[in-house]
Amino acid sequence: MAADDLLTTLQSYVGKRGPVQVARHPVTPTAIADWCDAIGDINPVYVDEEVAAKSRHGGLVAPPATLDIWDRPGLPAQPRFRPPEKPPAEDPRSGVLRLLDEAGYVGVVAVNSELELVRYLRPGDLLQNVQVLEDVSPEKQTALGVGHFVTTRQRYETSEGEHVGDLLFRILKFKPNTGTAPATPAEPSRPAPDANPALRPRPGINRDNQTLYDGYRAHELRVPTCKGCGRQFFPPLPRCSACGSFDIGYTVSAGRGTVYSHTVVHYPQAPGFRYPLVVALVELEPIDGQPPLRMVADLVGVTPAQVHVGMPVQLEWLDSHPALVEGATDSRGPISIPQFRPATPARRADTVPAGDVEAGAALPLWTLPVSPTHIVAGAVATRDFQDVHHDRDLAHRKGSKDIFLNINTSLGYMQRYVTDWAGPEALVTALRVRLGAPAYPYLPLTFSGAVQSVDAESGRVVVGVQASNELGPHITGTVELELPQ
Ligand SMILES: [Zn+2]
Repeated sequence: MAADDLLTTLQSYVGKRGPVQVARHPVTPTAIADWCDAIGDINPVYVDEEVAAKSRHGGLVAPPATLDIWDRPGLPAQPRFRPPEKPPAEDPRSGVLRLLDEAGYVGVVAVNSELELVRYLRPGDLLQNVQVLEDVSPEKQTALGVGHFVTTRQRYETSEGEHVGDLLFRILKFKPNTGTAPATPAEPSRPAPDANPALRPRPGINRDNQTLYDGYRAHELRVPTCKGCGRQFFPPLPRCSACGSFDIGYTVSAGRGTVYSHTVVHYPQAPGFRYPLVVALVELEPIDGQPPLRMVADLVGVTPAQVHVGMPVQLEWLDSHPALVEGATDSRGPISIPQFRPATPARRADTVPAGDVEAGAALPLWTLPVSPTHIVAGAVATRDFQDVHHDRDLAHRKGSKDIFLNINTSLGYMQRYVTDWAGPEALVTALRVRLGAPAYPYLPLTFSGAVQSVDAESGRVVVGVQASNELGPHITGTVELELPQ
């Protein structure tokens, strides 16, 4: 088909509506609670009936980021108690994607997702949606390849026909290997060293620091403490510098602190580390009224520009070296290393009034150490059973280096990030994102945000949010809120 004919055919789908998709089950408190567990969102309006009854909602509600999960088909290829009588009619997006596949645009990537809420869903709501194909763009040259942007809008209603929200979704269908990004990136002057932490030098473990490294292996930060005078110090010494005692015990630190000072290492680059490497002098919270101690450690989950003196941080453990000799208590045994990341911001118990919010105000950083469990639990709780979100072998076969977060889980984290900051009764009216780099396991994902606009009269607040890992921005977008006046 000639390009003009293809575009004409594709654009003949614009405005077409798909069949009504009805959810198999209504919204339930159990499914809401599973979602809250997966996202770590402990807002009581989703799970605590007593609190929810007294809230602006008057009862339990579903998190706003779940709008488009309830009518999903479930795990494919499983026997159904009541299978559909006939295969469902093709929706317009599937029709357009089929034509594009046939024309060689076989690559696909999600570009934008915009959820707009009319009201929060409640347990018992049975959801349905109708898809409308909103736009197919002319062929565009993009970094990934030449392709067409396909935009659909889904209108969500209850089974009684009440309009509860909309989803705008845009994907790019492209021809692989036609992108503007160079096929072979410019040769770096110096290749980055292998970042596998097992390549770091092993520490020397001796009688003076044995207690410290035993603690590290148990994921316990043991602060040497003089049994004679109670003096705490760091690093370990064989003898108390205050009273001279050789009787040294330890006190366990909770691992919370603040950045006292920091530096960024660019060169020289040693194997086992990721560069640029942020190294911080962390002032630990005082224990038992003793003067605070400071320790040097790597700071992960932050770009050099995000670090500032006084920034709250928390300890996390890097199990850097598998044991050479299982059970060895010297440096031939397993090694764990303390490192720090931005402290998880506290969740607001009350809801901030719009009048107390200032345009331009920054939200505290939040770093999520993404694990396979985060990814799989999020995929299942958002009822997204695409194999690239739960099956590493199949993800490899599809050319992905690992499983990665699905969009709805990322939206869930974004919603949690902003409502933890704004308070439990901040009403989310829209979640809009542009999608970027994938969120793979073991790459910390750091959320940052700033208030874009405040209308104190209506209580409408727009918060800009970005979540990035070392590959670049994963999601960039806005959360629109209604706050109490
Ligand atoms: Zn002492």
